[in-house]
Parts: sequence; C-alpha cells; structure tokens
Amino acid sequence: PNGDGLRLTAKVFSDIERRDADQPEFRQAVHEVLESLEPALERHADYIDDRVLERLCEPERQIIFRVPWTDDAGDIRVNRGFRVEFNSALGPYKGGLRFHPSVDLGIVKFLGFEQTFKNALTGLPIGGGKGGSDFDPKGRSDAEVMRFCQSFMTELHRHLGEYTDVPAGDVGVGRREIGYLFGQYKRITNRYESGVLTGKGLNWGGSQVRTEATGYGTVYFVREMLRSRGEDLDGRRVVVSGSGNVAIYAAQKAAELGATVVALSDSGGYVVDDSGIDLDAVRDIKEARSGRIKEYLDRHNRARYVDGGNIWDVPCEIALPCATQNELDRTAAETLVRNGLVAVGEGANMPTTPEAVKVFSDAGVRFGPGKAANAGGVATSGLEMQQNASRDSWHFDYTDKRLSDIMADIHTMCSETAEAYGAPGNYVLGANIAGFIKVADTMRDLGV
Ligand code: GLU
Repeated sequence: PNGDGLRLTAKVFSDIERRDADQPEFRQAVHEVLESLEPALERHADYIDDRVLERLCEPERQIIFRVPWTDDAGDIRVNRGFRVEFNSALGPYKGGLRFHPSVDLGIVKFLGFEQTFKNALTGLPIGGGKGGSDFDPKGRSDAEVMRFCQSFMTELHRHLGEYTDVPAGDVGVGRREIGYLFGQYKRITNRYESGVLTGKGLNWGGSQVRTEATGYGTVYFVREMLRSRGEDLDGRRVVVSGSGNVAIYAAQKAAELGATVVALSDSGGYVVDDSGIDLDAVRDIKEARSGRIKEYLDRHNRARYVDGGNIWDVPCEIALPCATQNELDRTAAETLVRNGLVAVGEGANMPTTPEAVKVFSDAGVRFGPGKAANAGGVATSGLEMQQNASRDSWHFDYTDKRLSDIMADIHTMCSETAEAYGAPGNYVLGANIAGFIKVADTMRDLGV
C-alpha cells in the first residue's frame, strides 16, 4: 500500500464534511463506504486518476419540489417532495419513495447513495435513486393519501420514465400509494407505461413476490451466511424489529425455514411471544387495520408487551433489524452479543450504527449489511421491470426462485470479494468493494 487510497478517501470525505455538514446520515453512509474502499483504491490507481470517487459521491441530479394538497377539512397543506437521481451508470435511476416526517434532503441522499451500490450487487441493469416527502401518512384518510399522491406525481412525472427513473415504495409507500401514483402518471401522460413504477398491484403490471421480496431476500441472505459455515436457521431464536412490510415477510420466511420468531416491534414498543409470533394476527393488525403492535395481546395473552423499551434486549441468535436507520446502537449490540447472537441481517437501510457494526465484527458475529441483505426488494423490482418490458407475468414459484438465486449470487460475490481483499467473512467490505467496482468500471467505460 502506498497510502494513495487513504489520502484520497480522506480528501473526498473532508469535502463532504464541509459541503454536506447538515446531512449526518449521508456523511455516515459515505464514510462507511469510503473506509472499506481503501484496499480497492490501493490496487486500482486508475480509479484515483479518473476521480471516480468524487463523481460517485455527488448525485447526478437532485430535485426538490412543492407538494400542495387539500385535507379532508378543506384546508390546504404544503409538503416538500424530493427525488435524488444518484447514479445512472448501470441503468435507469431506481429506488423507492419514502413518506415520513423525518424525510429531508440528507436522508434521501443517504438512501440514494446506498441504493446505487445495492442495485449494482443485484446484477440487474438498474442505477440508483431515491425520493420521498416529509408527508406523514399516519392518521390520514384514504382520500387524503390519494390527493397527496396525485399532487406529488403531478410534479414528479416529468422526471420519470421506464428508461429514465423508476420509483417504487419504501417506508410509508406501499401498493395503495403506488396505485394512486401510477394512476396519476397514466392520466397525465396518456401512456400505460407499466415499467415506470414498481411495486404495482398484480392486476396492473405488478410482480408476484414483490411484496414479500425484501423480507424473504433478507432471510435468504442470512441462510447463505449460515450455510457457508455449515449451519442453518432451523430451531434458531429470531428477533425482528419493525412490523411493516419488510419485517412481516422476513418473520414469515424465517419461521418457514424452521426458526422461531419471538419478537416484533413498532414505534410504540415491542411484543414478545416465546412460543413464536402468530404472523396472521400481526398481518391482520398491521396490514388490514393499520393498528398498533400492542393489540397483539388481545389475541394472545401468553405474550408480553413492553411499552417503549428496546427490542434488542430480547435474547436471540439471529437479529433482523427491519425498522429504520440507526435503530441498533453500540449498547444494543453489546447486549445481543452477550445474549449469544450469531448473525445479523439488515432488512432496513443502515439500521446498525457504525459502533454497533464494530462490536459485531469484534465478536465474530456474521453481519449482512443492508445493501447486500435487503437487495431482494429492488432485485424483484428489476424482475418486475423485465416482465413489464416483455408484457409478461411470471408465476410465484418461478419468481421466488429467481429471487433466492439472486440473493445466493450476492452472498457469493460479497464473500469472494472480501476474501480477495484479505478480509474473509467481512460482508461490509465485500459488498462495498464489489458494488463500487461494478459502478466505477462502468462510469470509466462511459467517459466523463
Ligand atoms: N425501497 C426499497 C429499497 O430500499 C426498494 C426500492 C425499489 O424497489 O426500487 O431497496
């Protein structure tokens, strides 16, 4: 090593510290990636000469727009909309939309940055992007959500296209919202352009398995991590944070593979059921009635509910953080390790703080970072785009098989890359370097 890689990443990072001082999540995501790229930069001086890092850390385009809408009382409200088109080297910008009060430019940039590498790992022709709004869907009527989505798309449509930018869902955006967004796109453009959004309903161009894909994929990735050491999920105690789309289907797949899922949470607290969470009850509470996880107690009095608290206090061998960024910190990681943790699969994006990742790696816990472990969602979006392009729709089992093959390929790529760079078992390094090399090589091929 001649130190060039280190000097360059330090310089790129100090520029970002200065220019994006008010975007802590973006700085955290960039820092984590740059740190693990140093060995790759030492080996490939061309990346340094071509300023690939500087180009990669700056989004190609950032769109911020006004979203005015009328609430049920007739009052006019104004939210802020975002779409960050991060990188289109490998294909059209691709990534979800998040509707949550915490959404700001820094959050969307962090998610778009991560998405670029994640999408590269899927092996499918998709670039990276992300968007959303600070709109809070909680407590809003269906009609309000529809009017909000229509207003959001009234501006966003001009930036989209099946060959340009293809959004999907994320926190606060599911099939209902994608329906209202797609309806408005179709109305405005007079085009039935199915491939412009993914996560659609099955009657109107959606793909089988897309709803389940992020959660299933996370568990498939964990299964591969365990398998590479001759172990499996059978009989394992699993804790899943969150109770949204990712959490529910991660829990379902883990249970199907023989594990016992003992806890789930929402922003109010967490529920523990040692005999295994009844997922039909959770789906009924959360999906059908948008209720709170504590209502689980009404169905099963053997369970216990902890108001607030920290779900990572619940002992388990496998932890699947599927709620939100930075939800699992150093203290939680230390508790988990003390309680016999074996593996972590990040279903959410960057749910583990850098300090917690360090605790896991020091303890020899297998750690699957989000950009690898939760890539199944966007990978299945890529499969949805393939079906739309050929006006076809595939069966559930075939699509699920494609998903599990993609997750196994991502696992192989991450572990082989980690090995090649002298860090066997380090999936963070493997995922970051493998994703980076693919995007960086393509950017060099396409010129400045
Ligand atoms: N929001 C999901 C993610 O974080 C899915 C994005 C997509 O399907 O485009 O990867």
